[in-house]
Amino acid sequence: MKMRKTLTTTLATIALATIAHCTYAAGELIGIALPNKTEARWIMDGNNIVNNLKSKGYKTDLQYSTYDVPTQISQIENMITAGAKVLIISPVDGATVSNVLKKAKQKGIKVISYDKLIMKTNDVDYYATFDNYQVGVLQGTSIVNKLGLNTGKGPFNIELFAGSLDDNNAHMFNAGAMSVLNPYISKGKLVVRSKQTALSKVATLRWEGATAQARMDNLLSAFYGGYRLDAVLAPNDNLATGIISSLKGVGYGRANKPMPVITGQDAQPANVKAIIRGDQTSTVFKDTRLLASAAAEMVDAIVKGKTVPVNNTTSYNNASKIVATYLVKPTLVDKNNWDAVLIKSGYYKANQVK
Ligand code: BGC
Repeated sequence: MKMRKTLTTTLATIALATIAHCTYAAGELIGIALPNKTEARWIMDGNNIVNNLKSKGYKTDLQYSTYDVPTQISQIENMITAGAKVLIISPVDGATVSNVLKKAKQKGIKVISYDKLIMKTNDVDYYATFDNYQVGVLQGTSIVNKLGLNTGKGPFNIELFAGSLDDNNAHMFNAGAMSVLNPYISKGKLVVRSKQTALSKVATLRWEGATAQARMDNLLSAFYGGYRLDAVLAPNDNLATGIISSLKGVGYGRANKPMPVITGQDAQPANVKAIIRGDQTSTVFKDTRLLASAAAEMVDAIVKGKTVPVNNTTSYNNASKIVATYLVKPTLVDKNNWDAVLIKSGYYKANQVK
């Protein structure tokens, strides 16, 4: 009798422990802080991360800032107060979240840097991102191929744009693209008439399309009065949109004055339309389904105490430490493959881009 009672108690204890463990692993709150809602990609990222985590049984708190540092910091503070177990953060400014992350660290909260690298702090545990250098290589290669530089054509005029200097990705994209373009610039096959090549000159604070548009206006009036502009290195779709508006304003995009080669990144629906119309040459598709799932796998491994999946432990130094990273492969999209890559893969519905 006594033995049966002990056994029942033991079984009940095991059952309770199992339930407690499940609740611990699955019911945890995960905070997600993304930069803005004005670029379509971040909305896809947010939805995909939440869906992935919910399917694993987690609770989520998804917040977007308006590309504003204080807003993002207070959102992260609220997540810490609310008891988040893991934070997924794509920082507005890579180097400004270190203080709030100290508080996270004190509470034992793990931090995953998402897409953009959190800089200058040890209090970041993992990084899930696309191969950012490769994004730039794809952009540079798109220009080289479309102009036919690799078959000896040229010289051509090009202008360069970069993203926001407080975003480590902007540096990586530029380095990747210039690794392809610089040899042609050195040989005189690509000519930057403005001579503006330094990253500090070509950068665009907070990735503002309007800022790129204004700079393109200035470049066109100062350097292209009697010259044709043949190519523009645009680091993302938002900036490409501003640049295209500026070019249209001075008559590019007509039969007698075709658009220059223009790159991009993010495969935003409006820019895929621009590719189909012939206003933009290419974009780089970063499948946010894959990145969101990589981040969710990291969360699950962290919460369950398993080995966190990473595939790069050398490339991403945040100026305090090398952050263990999971890299996802980006894909170049142009008028030849947008249907296969974006529609047939189920990423967009055909009516979103037509
Ligand atoms: C992201 C790009 C995005 C840009 C502006 C970069 O860090 O990787 O996909 O276009 O920020 O938000």
